[in-house]
Amino acid sequence: MAKIAVLGAGLGGVIMAYELRDILGKEHEIVVVNKGDRYSFVPSNPWVAVGWREREDIEVELGPVFARRDIKLHPQGAARLHPQENRIDLTDGSSVSYDFLVIATGPELAFDEIEGLGPEGHTQSICEVGHALKAKEAFQQLVRKPGPVIVGAAQGASCYGPAYEFTFVLDKALRDARIRDQVPMTFVTAEPYIGHLGLDGVGDTKGLLEAEMRQHHVKWINNAKIDKVDSDMMHVTELAEDGSVKATHDLPFAYSMILPAFRGVSAVRDIEGLTNPRGFILADKHQRNPTFSNIFSVGVCVAIPPVGKTPVPVGVPKTGFMIESMVTATAHNIARILDGKEPDAQGSWNAVCLADFGDGGVAFVAQPQIPPRNVNWSSSGKWVHAAKIGFEKYFLRKVRIGKSEPFYEKLALQALGIDKLKSIKLDEDA
Ligand code: FAD
Repeated sequence: MAKIAVLGAGLGGVIMAYELRDILGKEHEIVVVNKGDRYSFVPSNPWVAVGWREREDIEVELGPVFARRDIKLHPQGAARLHPQENRIDLTDGSSVSYDFLVIATGPELAFDEIEGLGPEGHTQSICEVGHALKAKEAFQQLVRKPGPVIVGAAQGASCYGPAYEFTFVLDKALRDARIRDQVPMTFVTAEPYIGHLGLDGVGDTKGLLEAEMRQHHVKWINNAKIDKVDSDMMHVTELAEDGSVKATHDLPFAYSMILPAFRGVSAVRDIEGLTNPRGFILADKHQRNPTFSNIFSVGVCVAIPPVGKTPVPVGVPKTGFMIESMVTATAHNIARILDGKEPDAQGSWNAVCLADFGDGGVAFVAQPQIPPRNVNWSSSGKWVHAAKIGFEKYFLRKVRIGKSEPFYEKLALQALGIDKLKSIKLDEDA
C-alpha cells in the first residue's frame, strides 16, 4: 500500500485527491495537507468584492466529504517540505510522511515587492476570499464617497483575466449604485497591450477588450511598472517597447485593486532541484519533478516560462481547465508508477477562460497555450455571464459531492472538442 500526500486543497488539490481516489481504489492511502479545513472557489472572489456573493456561498467544508471518500485531512498547513526524507513538517510540530507527493499550493502573493501594495498597504486584492471581503468594505466606502478608481495587474503578475473581469464587474456595480458618473476608472497593466493576458492574446482579445474598455469609459496604461503606492496616489512608470521610459504617471485614487506578482509558497521555496528562483515547482511534461521523481505538481505552483519577452515582466496564467488537465495527467501517471510502469500522460495545458463582466463577458480558448495554435478562439456576449455562473455552481457541486468529473461534464467538454489529456503515448525513455 502506498501513501500519497496532496499539499494544498484549492482548485487543483481537492480534485487531485478525488481523482487519485477514483483511479487508485481503496487500497492506497490518500492524505491532504491544507491551510484550513475549507475549500474556497477563488474565481468567485470578484463577486464577493462587490457583495454579489457571501463567503458561505463559495466555500465547502472539506472534513465530511473527505471522510466519505476515505481521504485524511491535515488542516494545520505545512511549515516545510523535506523532499530527501519524504516528509512534510506541519505548523503544529507534527509531520506527515509520504511515498508520493503532489504539490498544489497555489501562489504566495508578492505584495511586498512594491511599496504600499496590497491589503496591508493601500490597494485591495481579490486573490483570497478574506481579501475580497476587505475589498467589499472599501467598495462600500467608495459608494459613500465616490472618487477615482485604479484596477490592474502589477509587474510580474500572471493572472490578467481576473483584473479585466473585476474592472467590468466593478463598473456594473457602480452603475447599479448610480455613481459610475462620479468615478473615473483607469486600468494599469504590465501587459504590452490590452488583451495580451500573458498569452500574447487569444483570437481577437486585443480588439474585444479594447472595445469593452472604450464602451465602459475605462482608460488604460500598458507596459506599466508600479513604483510605489501612497494612501491616495499610485506612482507608475510606463515603458516603451524598447524598455526605455515613455512616461511617468502620478495617479490619484479613492479605491484600487491590483493583482500582485505570484511566487511559490515558503514551505516549498528554495529547495534545490525542486523549485525555480521564484519558488515555482519544476515539472516535466508528465507533471513530475526532474530531481525528486516521487513529487508531482499541479496548478498555479507549477513553473511555466513566459510566452515571450515583454518590456515589463508578464507571467503566464494557469486557468481552471488547464489545472484540471494537469490533475488528470498526474493521477494517471501515479497509477502507472504504482503498476510498475513509466508515466505517459500529459496534460493538454489548454487555456480556457470565462471572464465575466457582470452582464456580459469575454471567453477564450487557447490550444495550446503558446502561439501558433490549433485553437485560437475568443468571443463575447451575455452568454459568458451565464456560463461563469454555471462554472461556479458546477465546480462547487463537484467539490461537495466528492467527484472530480461527473459524466455530463465529460460530455460537455468533448462536445467542445476540448480534451484534458494529450493523446497518451509511451514515454520514449521507458
Ligand atoms: P489555489 O486554489 O489557490 O489553492 C492553493 C491551496 O494551497 C489553498 O487551499 C492554500 O490554503 C493551500 N496552501 C498554500 N500554502 C500552504 C501550506 N504551506 N500548507 C498547506 N496548504 C497550503 N481560473 C479560471 O479558470 N477561471 C476563472 O474565472 C478564474 N478566476 C480567478 C480569479 C482570481 C481572483 C484568481 C486569483 C485566479 C482565478 N483563476 C481563474 C485562476 C485559477 O483557476 C485559480 O487561481 C485557482 O484557484 C488556482 O488553483 P490552485 O489549486 O493552483 O491554487
